[in-house]
Amino acid sequence: MGKKCTCGCGKGGGQTTLALPELFGANVFNDRLMKERLPKETYKALRKTIDQGTSLKPDVAAVVANAMKDWAVERGATHYTHWFQPLTGFTAEKHDSFIAPADDGSVIMEFSGKQLIQGEPDASSFPSGGLRMTAEARGYTAWDCTSPAFLKEDAVGNVTLCIPTAFCSYKGEALDKKTPLLRSMSAVSTQALRVLKAMGNTTSTRVASTVGAEQEYFLVEKEYYLQRLDLITCGRTLFGAPAPKGQELEDQYFGAIKDRVSAYMQDLDVELWKMGITSKTRHNEVAPAQFEMAPVFTTTNIAADHNQLVMETMQKVALRHGMVCLLHEKPYAGINGSGKHNNWSLSTDDGINLLEPGNTPEDNAQFLVFLAALLKAVDTNADIMRATCGSSGNDHRLGANEAPPAIISVFLGDALSDILIKLAKGEKMAKKGAAFLNIGVDSLPELPKDNTDRNRTSPFAFTGNKFEFRMVGSSQSISGPNVALNTIAAEALDEIATRLEKAKDINKEILAILQETVKNHGRIIFNGNNYTAEWATEAAKRGLANTRTTVDALKSFVTPKAIKLFGKYKVLSKDELHSRYDIYVEQYAKHINIEAQVAMQMVKRRFIPAAIRFMSELGTSINAAGKYATVQKDLLAQVGALLDGVGKKLAKLEAETAKAQGIAKVDKQAMAFRDQVMPALSALRQDIDSLESIMPGDLWPVPVYSDLLFKL
Ligand code: ADP
Ligand code: MG
Repeated sequence: MGKKCTCGCGKGGGQTTLALPELFGANVFNDRLMKERLPKETYKALRKTIDQGTSLKPDVAAVVANAMKDWAVERGATHYTHWFQPLTGFTAEKHDSFIAPADDGSVIMEFSGKQLIQGEPDASSFPSGGLRMTAEARGYTAWDCTSPAFLKEDAVGNVTLCIPTAFCSYKGEALDKKTPLLRSMSAVSTQALRVLKAMGNTTSTRVASTVGAEQEYFLVEKEYYLQRLDLITCGRTLFGAPAPKGQELEDQYFGAIKDRVSAYMQDLDVELWKMGITSKTRHNEVAPAQFEMAPVFTTTNIAADHNQLVMETMQKVALRHGMVCLLHEKPYAGINGSGKHNNWSLSTDDGINLLEPGNTPEDNAQFLVFLAALLKAVDTNADIMRATCGSSGNDHRLGANEAPPAIISVFLGDALSDILIKLAKGEKMAKKGAAFLNIGVDSLPELPKDNTDRNRTSPFAFTGNKFEFRMVGSSQSISGPNVALNTIAAEALDEIATRLEKAKDINKEILAILQETVKNHGRIIFNGNNYTAEWATEAAKRGLANTRTTVDALKSFVTPKAIKLFGKYKVLSKDELHSRYDIYVEQYAKHINIEAQVAMQMVKRRFIPAAIRFMSELGTSINAAGKYATVQKDLLAQVGALLDGVGKKLAKLEAETAKAQGIAKVDKQAMAFRDQVMPALSALRQDIDSLESIMPGDLWPVPVYSDLLFKL
């Protein structure tokens, strides 16, 4: 199949001579191609399925599949795959070639409608959390035709047609992250439309949640990476003394991008653009060797698909440049970790952003109603939002002296908060003589989009026309957090719609809703610095939860409240919630277990031998130097004492890990990993890091922080 780039430039992956507009989406079977390549009737039928969610007829699917295959084959594809997102948080693909034997012994390229619509991968090796009995090993993948098919192209020239799919069990239970996302999008659309209709909107027929996920990442020299088992296996350094320089000079953020990194970013952008991913912004982040990519927002399910591809492509392209891309939430102690800013809003099919303050009283009323819904939703379900961001990696950010904290609050900015407070007090804010006096607000002050008072410490910040959920971990799928946002918004909008539909005087009812929201849920608003100890105290007074660890946070998936919420909107059943809880708790325990194993191995095989070598060197030198051996003796005593400590702490870590491994119940086990194993690991790290700082560089067996962070 050659090693050609499928964009038609004739070069290998990553390079192109095509102009950006032609290059963009070159690997996507997009609307333009569908129109071009499908008979009119087929195109219309497919469009109806995509726009209105009607079911796709087999004869239509057959024609679509064939056109897709022809296009893919022209571009060098030999295989297709149903591409899905199991509960591991990664994506899965099993490639099938298009070949089918012909009568004359040759082969033809074939792709049927059935192959497009449904696949039946063996599900037994994916986590199901008890949803799938081994006897029913089969899982089913079903085409999510609202997310376009695309070609994945690797550096060696292989091209695969990817069909974005949802993944379910035989009984239709969601085994993946996409199914509940699609369900939640439908729930929020229904409820938002009811509110709009009650407020007099007669034009919108669908509401989509939209997301732009800013992705943070680190790059590290591959040669150094390969020398560190902790980076290879855990994605983070389990050991490492601080470098003499960290991020205190604040010289990295938005700093000039080094050529090598720039070459990487350009290559990355080209790969993303080809797959129709609107990579828009790239810059240096706060920590050394940390960067960010932000796309233009899109419909949530597509944004989630794209973010998975972004993470995968970032890692692939880095290798081509002799680097490794680290997506872990906290690769290095003592400097910033990585997150994902999940920008979220609601948008109608006729282009109205429902979180955009408007210029007319009607628009403002609509905006305030949706804002109120969100305040109520977040205050009522902060625990669920927090749970969706739980992972062993993210525990190093949330609740561990890093932005954002584990306490959920909403930043509105002073201007908007003032309006709400005045409304709550019943103060009229309309200009005198204003023609429309709807709810007492006829004009909102201009809310600057790029407001300089933008609060970077808030976990959930209103940023002019959208909310930015900043708790999401850099390595995690954005599906879970958006399932939560969509569903909690649906619930709050449902309640508001019910009131508005019954109201005799709609303006009065809106005002009452706004006032009640401020009164009952105003505690969730916080515009100050979220880092401070004062905020933790204040939040506790307000009764806001501060759930610092994943093990505690995950429990919120299986509370009666969560089961009722997700059940009511048919997003996740009780069983589906329990399966997720079990899987995520187990994942946490497994991750810490792996970290402990890696730490023990590195200490035994790397650090202890290095310290012993140094001690013998010192011993030799002490003998040779006689009375001048004061420094050597002093060092010997220090290294000896530390090594003694390392021995004891290693034994403790081994004992605690073995104990935790022996616990059968997974939630108890996770607690043991958190409460016993993690502290044992941190204690061991302290001594190792102290050793590192007094040992000779040439005897230290692994690259150190200044190598990893400053030598790109
Ligand atoms: P920053 O927060 O870094 O200052 P921007 O304001 O440029 O960045 O936007 C951040 C992200 O928010 C981008 O991915 C952008 O596309 C996304 N965004 C903008 N408007 C919306 C919207 N209505 N819904 C969802 N995401 C949005
Ligand atoms: Mg942002």
